[in-house]
Amino acid sequence: MVNESEMAIVQERIKDAPVNIVELIGDLGVAYVEEPMDADSSGRIDYIDGEYRITVNSDQSRQRKKFTAAHELSHYLLHRHMLHRRGHLDRLFSSGGQANPSSPLSPKHEVEANKLAASILMPREAVKDLMVWANYNLHDLADRFGVSPAAMEIRLKVLGIDLEQEAAKEKSGHVGIAYQFDR
Ligand SMILES: [Zn+2]
Repeated sequence: MVNESEMAIVQERIKDAPVNIVELIGDLGVAYVEEPMDADSSGRIDYIDGEYRITVNSDQSRQRKKFTAAHELSHYLLHRHMLHRRGHLDRLFSSGGQANPSSPLSPKHEVEANKLAASILMPREAVKDLMVWANYNLHDLADRFGVSPAAMEIRLKVLGIDLEQEAAKEKSGHVGIAYQFDR
C-alpha cells in the first residue's frame, strides 16, 4: 500500500535530525493543524472534502506533539485507504506501540503507525551517528531528535543499541565500523 514516490520524499526529508515533521506533512500535501482537544486525545486524521487533515492536540508537550504528528502521518502513509468514511482519533498512546485503537483501525495498525513514526523521527543511521555526538547520553540524544527520552529508549531497543555498551566499546577503542562514516 505504500506509495514509492511519497516514501522518496520521506527519505529525503529525514536525512537531517531533527526532522521537521510539519514541513514533511506539508510536502506530502496533507493539511496540519494544532488545536486544543480533550485531555485524553493526542491527535486525529480525517478525510474531508477530498483532503487529508492531521489535527494534533495543542495542549501536549512539544515532544509529544511531534510524535503524534509522525504517528498520524504514518496512518496517512499506511492506512489512508481505510480512513475515507470516517476519521481516526488517537487517545493518549505510548510511543512504544501500546495499542489504543479507535475504529476503523485496529491495534495492529497502531503498532505499525508507531513503528513508522519512530523510524521517521529517529532514523537508524542518524541515531548511530549522533549517539557519539551525544556522548552516549540518552537525554542529549533524545533532545537532538526532538523526541522524549522514553521514545528514544524504545527506539534504541528496537535498533539493538545499548548506549552503555557502546560507550564502553569506544573507551576501549573498538568503535564499530558501522559508526565510522563521516557526516
Ligand atoms: Zn493511531
